This record gives sequence, structure tokens and C-alpha cells, in this order.
Amino acid sequence: MGHVDEFSALGSDSLLALREQLQKEYLRLQERGLKLDLTRGKPSAEQLDFSNELLALPGPDDYRAADGTDCRNYGGLLGLTELREIFSPLLQVPTAQLLASDNSSLSLMHDTVIHAMLFPLPGGRTRWAEVERPAFLCPVPGYDRHFSICQKFGIEMIPVEPTADGALDIDEIERLAASDARIKGMWFVPKYGNPTGISVTAEQARRLAAMPTAADDFRLLWDDAYSVHHLTDQHTAIAPILALCAEAGHPDRVFVFGSTSKVTFAGAGVSFLGTSAANLDWFQGHLSKRTIGPDKVNQLRHVRFLKDADGVRKLMERHRESLAPKFAKVQEILTEGLGGTGVAHWTDAHGGYFISLDVLDGTAAEVIRLAKEAGIALTPAGSTYPYGKDPRDRNIRLAPSFPPVADLDTAMRAVVVCVKLAALDKLLG
Ligand code: PLP
Repeated sequence: MGHVDEFSALGSDSLLALREQLQKEYLRLQERGLKLDLTRGKPSAEQLDFSNELLALPGPDDYRAADGTDCRNYGGLLGLTELREIFSPLLQVPTAQLLASDNSSLSLMHDTVIHAMLFPLPGGRTRWAEVERPAFLCPVPGYDRHFSICQKFGIEMIPVEPTADGALDIDEIERLAASDARIKGMWFVPKYGNPTGISVTAEQARRLAAMPTAADDFRLLWDDAYSVHHLTDQHTAIAPILALCAEAGHPDRVFVFGSTSKVTFAGAGVSFLGTSAANLDWFQGHLSKRTIGPDKVNQLRHVRFLKDADGVRKLMERHRESLAPKFAKVQEILTEGLGGTGVAHWTDAHGGYFISLDVLDGTAAEVIRLAKEAGIALTPAGSTYPYGKDPRDRNIRLAPSFPPVADLDTAMRAVVVCVKLAALDKLLG
């Protein structure tokens, strides 16, 4: 760290010399013909192996749920009770209010939004589609697939930037939600956020549950995708939002989502939706027209494999052992290469799947272009912002989970060169 000088303190001769050196490094990188990918937060093959037992479950003679249900047959819209019991404490939703579904929580979020567009929610007078320019609050940087759902349905996205110290701007959220009845909802990853790694504080959760909203059918879409995905032994706990909303007199305010996509198999796991009894009735009413019931055989094999909430916690320990060295490697290389330069800041997540890297304003797209031309795929510029537009062109989401540590090492050293080169080009004009 100590050997790197703050770029802004260097004279133009030093900057030019540094640029020349980095250009040479960059050319050497290009000559290596690298082909590495840091784009999506996918579990690695090693992580997927932790759940290989699932491939043989539930087994040839095992198809009855605890209540005798034959899982091979239709029915059971809410999902298997024993599976919902396992995830109830983890998602902090009472079993009776937790629906277990198929392989993707994103599809539950998508369906929630489309149903709300087409049919009034409990407490709402009209469907969202009838509102002129319905809108969602989107704390940024955030998850691109949330934003794609809004964009697809013509829901305007209102970005909410973090405060100067990087925290959720709860004052601004309260102000906006109270001031405009067009604002129907808010996307939120409450724990180990994508991409910031930040978790909601108890006070922020309380305020989100209690805040007055101009819309009588305002909903928090509480995407607890990383509820058990710790990267250290200090496990972050978040407040139980469903209970807080009920206590605050807004029992229908929140839909909680979660899945085992990054617990067992990504895309072949089980998903969850937790909410008030009224919202659940509403959702199930629509769901029953879409499907006769979930894949209970998949749910049963997850029950057999995970056993109980502690089974999930133990499995997540193995994920942590696999992921933590990768996150540590990224931290080490960023600190060594960019610490003290003043041209980059990044998060040090205690959980989740991402590191959020802010480079010098106006250089993120260039960093990503340079990296691409050196064979390193990074998440497209702007993808952590609504409409793919990062107004300061500075945020890059790094996803260290998939590549082996050696590849990650190579890729991150290359990214450091690209960040510095783009910054020097910008500073030198
Ligand atoms: N929500 C967040 C915040 C994510 O980061 C992801 C995947 O990266 C998902 C949801 C996708 O979840 P699922 O696989 O359950 O659809």
C-alpha cells in the first residue's frame, strides 16, 4: 500500500511516466491472450459439488412428505410444510406465511410485479397499470435483474444514491415515499447487498416498516437472497421485517423473497415468498391460475438433504470456506494495486457474492473496455443502475465466486492495470 502515491498529488511528468509504464504492462497483458470472466455471481463447480448428494435424492422409494402427500402428484400450492419449516427461521417468516416454490426467486418477484400491475393489491384501489407512470424506488448501486423487471413493465425507476458515508439514504426514501402516490414500491436486498455487501440496520428496517407512504398499496420487495451467505464468522443479523411492518400497522407492506440458488444448485433449487396472510391469499389466487403446484419432488430432496435450519447453516460454512479466500484475494490485490492512489474505492463484504468497485468518475466504461480487450469480462458499465445508466460512470461490480483463485489473481491484477490506466488517461486529458 505504502509504495503507491496518491495520483492527484503527482505532477504531470510523474503521471506521464506512470502512464507509459502502465501502457507497457497493458500491452503485455494483451499478449497473454487471457480469457477470464468476472461477470456473474455464479457458484463455482467446487461449491456445486457440496450438494451432489441431491442428485441421488429423494431416492427410488422416497416420495411421501411428512403429512403423507405423494410428491409425485399434482397439488400443494404452498409447498411442503417441512421445507417451509426449515427456511422459516432463516428468512424470519412464520411457516404459515411462507410459500415454497420452484427454482427461482426472481420469477416470484417478476410474478409479484406483474400481478400487481394487473390486479389491485390488498389495500390498493387500482391495479398499478392504471396509475399514470407508476414508479419504484431503487437504492443504487443495485441488482440489474430487479431493474430489468421494472423496465419491462414500464415502471419508472427512481435511483436513491447512498449517503456520503455509503449508507442507505433512509431520509430520502422516507421523503420520496411520502410525497408521491405514483411510488408503488422499492427493491431492496437487505443483507449483504448486491453489489455493495451492505446490510440494513435495525433502525433503517424499523423506519422502512413505519414510514408513511403516499400510495396505499406501497410494497417493499425485500430480496433476502443472501440471508445465510456469510463470508466471516461474524454473522450479520437483520431485523425481522415482516414482524416490524405488522407492529407498525402496515402488515401488508412487505414481500420477502429467498432461494437456495446459492445454497444448493443455482437454477435447480427451491425459492420462497414470505408475506402477510392477505398478500399471500392474493398471490396464491393468481398463482393457482398459473400452476397446479410446485415441483414437490425437488422440494422433498431438498428436505432430505438439508434436514433442518442447522443443516443449511452447516452447508453455508462450506461455501464460506470456499468463497472467503477468493474475496480475500480480491481485497489483497485491490489494496496492493490501488490502495492510496485515490482513484478507486471498494467494499469489503462480510457476506454475499460481490465487491462493488468505484473507480475515478467517468472511467468505469473505459476500464471495462480495456479489460475486455485484455480478455477479462467484467459486468457491463452501468448495470448496477436503473436503465444501465450510472450517472457518474464509476461503479463496477466484481463477482469473485466462479473462477479458481489463480485465475482470479490474474484477472484482478489485470483489472488494477486497467483502472490505473483509465484514471491516468482521464487525469492527463
Ligand atoms: N436476487 C439477488 C439479489 C441476486 O443476486 C440473485 C442472483 O444473483 C437472485 C435474486 C436470483 O435468485 P434466483 O436464482 O432465486 O432466481
